[in-house]
Parts: sequence; structure tokens; C-alpha cells
Amino acid sequence: MPHLNSRLQGFGTTIFAQMSALAVQTGAINLGQGFPDSDGPTEVSEAAIDAIRAGHNQYPPGPGIPELRQAISRHQKRFYGLDFDTEREVLVTAGATEALAAALIALCEIGDEVVTFEPWYDSYGAGISMAGAFKRVVTLRPPDYSFDPVELRRAITAKTRLILLNTPHNPTGKVFSREELELIAELCIEHDLIAVTDEVYEHLTFDGEHIPLASLPGMAERTVTISSGGKTFSFTGWKIGWACAPAPLLDAVRTAKQFLTYVNGAPFQYAIAVGLDLPDSFFTEFHDDMAAKRRRLCDGLAAAGFEVFEPQGTYFVNTDIRPLVGDDMDGVEFCLALPERAGVVAVPAQVFYDNTHEGQHLVRFTFCKQLDVIDAACERLAVLSS
Ligand code: PMP
Ligand code: GLN
Repeated sequence: MPHLNSRLQGFGTTIFAQMSALAVQTGAINLGQGFPDSDGPTEVSEAAIDAIRAGHNQYPPGPGIPELRQAISRHQKRFYGLDFDTEREVLVTAGATEALAAALIALCEIGDEVVTFEPWYDSYGAGISMAGAFKRVVTLRPPDYSFDPVELRRAITAKTRLILLNTPHNPTGKVFSREELELIAELCIEHDLIAVTDEVYEHLTFDGEHIPLASLPGMAERTVTISSGGKTFSFTGWKIGWACAPAPLLDAVRTAKQFLTYVNGAPFQYAIAVGLDLPDSFFTEFHDDMAAKRRRLCDGLAAAGFEVFEPQGTYFVNTDIRPLVGDDMDGVEFCLALPERAGVVAVPAQVFYDNTHEGQHLVRFTFCKQLDVIDAACERLAVLSS
């Protein structure tokens, strides 16, 4: 791309956009991009409609409407016992994506390094580059997607500014354990690093427990905790996210955020505030519904001949395609051919690695779809082994 600056060279069209376009073109079932095929709770969508009718249609306050900031603060207390001051420690953003970009842009100097795990979520690489920083990765390896602590220690250099952690983790479905988080916390404290955590799948933990890094001793003062309403309430198009952090850190993030979007989604902010205050039963039912879908897709993929790495969280499952295609094809070739061969779209995990060989045979499917859609996709995929 001749006009694209050097920092963004290589960041073409996102894999999600490419694969969703392929699904539309071919009429294949889309288990690629993670977006639910049914709406979230009616109370929440009704609250958005009510907010529009009530005239909440102009710029909301820069940090977000007070009702939502209060609801975010209550949510952090209710689920994790974390205290965030509504006025100074909670910032509403245009999805988790903007919170991540604002944090990276605000906190990194040009030339700083950001340590994160690969495979990474797609916006991390671009966000780090836009901040003028460099990514250093630690590889998560199947079947359990654990990492080598020595690799993590080695990734930290004198230039490291922050550790960017995603748990539950997309695309692997890994939920970082307390022991792993303790090691990350220890290294942050030892090297005086900031932690930025992406917790958008916080309510989708099936095995283990979601532990915010900010809840570990010594971490509250150095962590920016990021999440969003997209996954939890199944309204991914509304793009209401947030960052919570102690005031000195949040002030920095807010400064960058002001000049990215300034504000967004006034009526949806009211609606997500309603969502965050829903009773525990909503969160439990959402979790149980997704757990059933996880089971169905994992079983279907195994029956179709994939090696399945059962996720502990998120709504994604990774597979190794080698039992089906050997070493003849990598995941990218496999996914490009899959709509034609089986009428299904998936995402090659390889594109989320710096060390592409680590993910060459891995393909990600999402299960945030109706059970009959999952069943139909699995039936189609059965042709691969027949
Ligand atoms: N982080 C991860 C790990 C994600 O999977 C997503 C989902 N798309 C995001 C961030 C972005 O969230 P949002 O849609 O709220 O910007
Ligand atoms: N988070 C979604 C996924 O991983 C996609 C979001 C997007 O398209 N940017 O599939």
C-alpha cells in the first residue's frame, strides 16, 4: 500500500472482515468472526430504544454518562470486590478496541516495548505500532496453551513499558490461572511495568475462574482493566467499552481517548448500564447457554476429524487440521478452501502469530451461534473425513 506509513505496513484488511466477506460471497455458515446470531437481553435493547426516545442523542459527557460509570463500578465490586471511583477511575470508550488503543498510545513512548502473548487479538499489533512501540511475544502452545515462564522473563527488557494481557484469551480460549497471573504480577512489580488487561470475555469462563490481574496484591495501582458490553450482552455492534484504573493512569488514557472518538453511543451507554445491573441469573444463564454450545461444537469438530483443543473460556475453539489434511496445507489455505469444500467459514489462527510456524496448522471456530447452526456446520464439516 503506497500511501500507508511504515508503522502500519503489513496491516491489510482484518482477517475477520476477509472471512465474513467470504461467507457472504459463498453463502457458507460463518463460524469465523465472533458475533452472535441472536440479540442480547430485551431489557437492554428496550433501554436503548427508551434512551433514544427520551432524547439522549447528543454528545454524552467525555468520560461517559454517570449512570454507566456507576454501573461499571458496581459491576467490578459485585463480581471481583474491586473498588473504582466513579468520578476519577472509570472511563467509557468506543468498545474495548478504543480503550486498548488509547491505553497504548497514552502510555508508550516511541520505541518502547510491549510484552504480550501470541496468538494475540488482531488489534494489538496495529495498536502497538500506532503507538510507535514494538511487540514482544511469548508463545502459548496447545494443547493447554500454557507458556514457558523463562520465555516470559526473557521477553522483558529495559525497554519494556507494559504487559498486555488478555484473559479469557482470544483466540485460544485459555483462562490464565492464578499461578500464571501471580508470575505476571511478580514481573510487573519487579520491573515496574504497567499491566493493561483485556477482559472482554470475563463472563465466559467455563473451566477455572476469571481473575482480574488488578485483584492481585500490588497490581491495582499499576493495572488498566479493560472490558466491554459487546460479548457479555451480545450487542457487538454497539461498541460500548470501558477502562478502569487508578486516577493517574486513567488520566493518561482519557487524554488519548478524547482525541480518538471523544465520545460515542449515547443511548447505548444507558442500555449497557441496565445490562451491568442485571441479576446474577442473567450472567449464569448466558454462561450456561454458551457452555452447551461449546460442548456441541467441540464434539461436532472432533467427530468431523479435527484435533480439538477445548477452550476454558471465550466463545472460540481451536483445532489442529493435521488429522484431516496432514502437512499438505496450512490453516490459511485450508480456510480459503473450506467454504467451497464444506460450506463453512473459519479463521486461520496463524495470522495471530509473529512466529507463524507456531500456528500454521491451527484453525479457530466460534460457537456464539444458535445450536441448529452449529449442528448444520458440523454436519457439513463431516464431508472432510468421508
Ligand atoms: N479484545 C478481544 C480479545 C476481543 O475478542 C474483542 C472482540 N472483538 C475485542 C477486544 C474488541 O472489543 P470491542 O468490540 O468491545 O471493541
Ligand atoms: N473479536 C471478534 C473475533 O475475534 C471480531 C471483532 C472484529 O471483527 N474486529 O472474531
